Amino acid sequence: ANPAGIIGKDALAELIRRYRPYTKQGKVADYIPELAYTNPHALGIAVAGADGSLVHEGDATTRFTLQSISKIITLMVALNDYGPERVFSKVGMEPSVDPFNSIVKLETLDQKKPLNPMINAGAIVIASLLSAGGNPDEGLQRICDTISRIIGRNDIRVDQKVYQSERKTGDRNRALAYFMKSTGVIDADVDVEETLDLYFKACSLEVDCVDLAKIGLFFAMWGKCVQKQDDGTCLTEGIVSPRIAQIVTTIMITSGMYNHSGEFFLKVGLPAKSGVSGGIVAFAPNRYGFGIFGPAIDAAGNSVAGVRMLEDLSRTFGLHLVSPY
Ligand code: GLN
Repeated sequence: ANPAGIIGKDALAELIRRYRPYTKQGKVADYIPELAYTNPHALGIAVAGADGSLVHEGDATTRFTLQSISKIITLMVALNDYGPERVFSKVGMEPSVDPFNSIVKLETLDQKKPLNPMINAGAIVIASLLSAGGNPDEGLQRICDTISRIIGRNDIRVDQKVYQSERKTGDRNRALAYFMKSTGVIDADVDVEETLDLYFKACSLEVDCVDLAKIGLFFAMWGKCVQKQDDGTCLTEGIVSPRIAQIVTTIMITSGMYNHSGEFFLKVGLPAKSGVSGGIVAFAPNRYGFGIFGPAIDAAGNSVAGVRMLEDLSRTFGLHLVSPY
């Protein structure tokens, strides 16, 4: 039971009204030139409930690219295909205090492997696993199929402009990847350009807040079926085991908001993953999935208004996972 009632449309409208002014405090990412065209004052939120409810407000059906939120899906797919042992032999499970695209720790850490799968280096290693055997298209297809089943629409596609823009300007990611190949973290037989292509395309998949809320709810329910179709079957059946959903959830708590993950968990207390296009997926286990779009981001790369809306929701509805009440 929810101590403060259910989250309805009115509550969401009030959140958008209250936090839209905070979009002025952030900046739209422009290091991927195509992202700079986004309206900085856009703000949307969608909430999917365990009871099958779905409410949204603001710019909740505006499409944007997944960016780093794709990292939770690629991690889940890799964990499924290769198992936790192999995945975590390539990438760590410790939070990072450096920015998401930092290269510095790749040389200084003993094992050279990236700190976690939520920073760029870590996600690129995961992409190298999925593109192994020279089949990056199959890896992308697996990612798209997984997302399609979770969000219940099969027209998910790569935003070509963002993808090309990122590919053209992605030299830092290219540097991370080649560096990791030189240290053996990325296997010698992996084609780095193919791996990067898979990574860029996964980041460029188009979604909206409603999609993100469904992804949040999927994890909130540990990958178990939330909504049966008319014929009694379930699209999300068998995508992931509760154990793997638990691993992804835990990594989201410790690393999902980049180098602000500690502060975010202290204030909001929910697993979440953000992307530089301004999206955030968050969830309250067994209860709600949240999808947010607020492209004005802070220095760490998190939506300024989005984080505040989640903080408000968590406080108002008593959602913090570490609660004395
Ligand atoms: N595609 C972006 C990049 O590689 C993703 C980063 C992000 O969302 N933080 O830079």
